[in-house]
Formats: sequence, C-alpha cells, structure tokens
Amino acid sequence: MAHQQQYPLPPHVLIFPVPVQGHVNSMLKLAELLSLAAVDVTFLLSEFSHRRLLRHTDIFSRFTRYPGFRFETISDGLPDDHPRAGEQIFDMLSSIKNVTGPLFKEMMVATGCLSSDGRRPVTCIIADGVFSFAGDFALEKGIALIYFRTISACAFWAYFCFQEIVEAGEVPLKGNGMDLLVKSVPGMEGFLRRRDLPGFIRVDEVSDPRLQVFKAETRQTLRAQAIIVNTFEDLEGPILSNIRTVLPDCFTIGPLHSHLKSRLSEGKTTTTPPSLASSSFWEEDRSCIEWLDGKPPKSVVYVSFGSITVLSREQLMEFWYGLVNSRQHFLWVMRSESIVGKDRESQIPAEVSEGTKVRGCMVGWAPQEEVLNHDAIGGFLTHSGWNSTLESIVAGVPMICWPYFADQTINSRFVSEVWKIGLDMKDTCDRVVIEQMIRDLMVVKKDEFIQSTDRIAKMAKEAVSMGGSSYCNL
Ligand code: UDP
Repeated sequence: MAHQQQYPLPPHVLIFPVPVQGHVNSMLKLAELLSLAAVDVTFLLSEFSHRRLLRHTDIFSRFTRYPGFRFETISDGLPDDHPRAGEQIFDMLSSIKNVTGPLFKEMMVATGCLSSDGRRPVTCIIADGVFSFAGDFALEKGIALIYFRTISACAFWAYFCFQEIVEAGEVPLKGNGMDLLVKSVPGMEGFLRRRDLPGFIRVDEVSDPRLQVFKAETRQTLRAQAIIVNTFEDLEGPILSNIRTVLPDCFTIGPLHSHLKSRLSEGKTTTTPPSLASSSFWEEDRSCIEWLDGKPPKSVVYVSFGSITVLSREQLMEFWYGLVNSRQHFLWVMRSESIVGKDRESQIPAEVSEGTKVRGCMVGWAPQEEVLNHDAIGGFLTHSGWNSTLESIVAGVPMICWPYFADQTINSRFVSEVWKIGLDMKDTCDRVVIEQMIRDLMVVKKDEFIQSTDRIAKMAKEAVSMGGSSYCNL
C-alpha cells in the first residue's frame, strides 16, 4: 500500500479494435507503443481472431515482455464458419453491435473494469471509431474515451460531411454524373469526383443501411475527448485542418508500423532494423522472399488485395492476363477464400496457377511489409486499404489502385491526384488497362514515380522520428 502511494499505478488503457486484419494490425502497434511507454494495456480481441493469431503467430509470447499488457477475448456473435470477408463483413459489424455490445458491458461490470493483477480499473478506452457502444459505456462510467480511426483522414472527413453531401444533392448517385466534382467536402472541391467518395457513400439510395451506419458512427465521434488517426501531418495536413474545426483534439501518430519500428530501435547501436511481431490471421508463406531474392531491383509487381476483398472468376482472369501480358515479374497474394462463385468458379483455374510460374509467384499470404521493402519490388497493385497504402508509402513503392469498397475509393484518388504516387484504376477491371498501367508504372513513368514516392517516404519517416509530428503527438 505504502508502495502504491509512493509510486501510483500507471494508467490502464483498453484497446478495442474491429476484429479484422487491418484494424488489429494497426491497433496492436498502438498497444505496443503504449506498452513501451509503461502504460498498462488490455487488448480486447474477438475469440475468433484470437484463435487465428494463436494458430499463425507468436504475438502472445512477444507481448510477455510488457508486464502491464494483457489480451482479453469476447465473442463476435457469429459461428466460426460464417464468412468474414466481402460484403459479409457487415454481418459481423451488426453482430458485434447486437451481441458483443451487451457482452462487453457485462464483462466490464463483472471484472470491475478489468481491475486485476494489480492493475487499475480501465482509465481510458481507445475504441475503434465504429464502436459507439464502447463509447456509451465509457461515458456512462466516466471513463476517458478516445476513438481510433484506422482509415485515412480524407475518408473520415468525407464520412463526416455526409449530411452536407446529401443536402447538396451529390448523393444518391443513381448511376449518373460519376465524374462530376463533389463540392460539399471542404478541402477536396478541386479533385474529388462522385466516384471517389468512400464506398459506403457511393450509394443509389440515401436510406442504404451501410451508409446510415457509417454516418451515425462517424458523427458520434464528437462525444470523445480525442481521436487518433493513423496518418501523418505532411500527408494529410489540409484535411486534418478541416477535421480540427469540429474535433480540435485530433492526433496523428502514424504511420504506426514505422513509428513502432522507430521507437524499438531508439538507443540501439545496431543498423539492423528491429523486427515487428507478425499479427497475421493467415500463415505467412516466406518462400516468396527467396523467390524475390533472385529478381533484379525494382523488377517485380506485388499484387495483393488485402484481407477482405473478394474477386469473381472474370476479374481474376482479367488481372491474370493483364499481368502476364505486361511481361513483368509478379508476386500475387491469393487468399484461399478470395474467389467467389459457385463450385469450380471459386477455385483458381489450373492455367492460372501453372501459367503464373513462368514469370510469377503465387502465395496464400505474404509477409507484406517485408515484401514491400524488398529491393526487387517496383510497384504494388493494391486494393488501397489504408494499412497497405501506408506500408507502400513508407517503403517508397508506387501503386496501381483497384479499390474494392469503404475508404479505398477515396484513398486511391489521393494516391493518384494529390500525392501523385500511383495510378487509379477504379471502376474498371480490363486486361488491356491493367497491362498498360503496369507498363506505365514500371517502365514509362518509372523515374517520375520514383521521385515522388521517395519524397513522401522521407516525410513519413521524419514524422515518426524524434521531434517529428507523429512522434510528438504520441
Ligand atoms: N497483409 C499481409 N499479407 C498479405 C496481405 C496483407 O500481411 O499477404 C497485411 C497488410 O500488410 C496490411 C493488412 O494485411 O497491414 C491489410 O490491411 P489493409 O488496411 O490494407 O486492408 P484490409 O485487409 O483491411 O482491406
């Protein structure tokens, strides 16, 4: 007791992500950064994702080095065999709201807000930005509340302006005027077309339930003491200024993967960068690193559409022909369940798996950050998920963007029109276009892209170095 009075216990932060790969990846990085600062942290995972991490990673032994850190689990309310990709991600979000929400409250009350092992009851909840139920609990109990946004600032701001977009008649789209400029999102008037609006806003009916959910979840962010965004000032400064007109305590601390690496190497004399713990839900196939080792610098296109995107058989074939016809080497990540269709349509055709071997390599899941930082990688054909975009930015790799949904449609516009570090292929999936864009990225405009990607990569690294904006904000 005397000891406690002399040295008060550290704050105790509960971090609660949507249990999908991209959200867990970035929020775990934040958890480790806070643990390094001797803050007690509880990381609340769905039982399903916890099992996947147990199966494929050694993340749990990694965190034993932080005495104040604990993992806790909670049900996401879905049976194990329920798909958690493509549009079915919405089943998960509504199940979390309806089933996990009440369970969360029960768990917090029953455990005295997780006060165990000599840790204080939770003093601050850092909830994923779409978990309003966690915010309700924090406000009810007088616990500090911070929302963490795993999406870009530009996507968050577009969601935030949804009411103004509707009032200006810019949605519903009803298929018309996709190339008209959107005038009601401050800071984006000159370049944002209707087709670039975040996927959940690009709807034909204002009553679309996805849109209503995202609108409500975004606006309730105003109740929090602060928000944290995984981005950096030099990348999204003008948009962040707009956000701060309504949410003054908006802290940028990204790119988090790079930030964590930078903190882990502080005080170390070795030049080898510290390794980050894998938090992959799938088994990483490291054979692709060996394959890359045999390729010339900047000669390989890395193709990955993240953890949620699904492809039809037709789209798969367009990508494959586009890649093969470009005559560039390619490394393609194809998750086992990522092709949708009935029976044989959902399998990778033999001509693709066999034919790929000529110039390419196909794996089920890759150690993506390591891949992007490999000398052999010259371009990234991506779905423009925010983690993938930040990882590509830090690695200085230009992108071809094929956004699938959510924030991806606006990220790809910023990549091509604002930051000029890639090409936007949204709304088309055609082998001729794919082939041409790969040639442009890897050959025709290669030098142009190298210049702009190098410049932005340097800014990203400065942001997380001592004295940089993200460093100071953390
Ligand atoms: N990722 C990976 N290996 C792969 C494909 C993806 O480790 O083969 C990681 C990637 O590094 C990123 C995350 O999965 O951190 C995907 O998140 P993102 O926000 O890009 O897309 P989402 O999966 O949420 O659509």
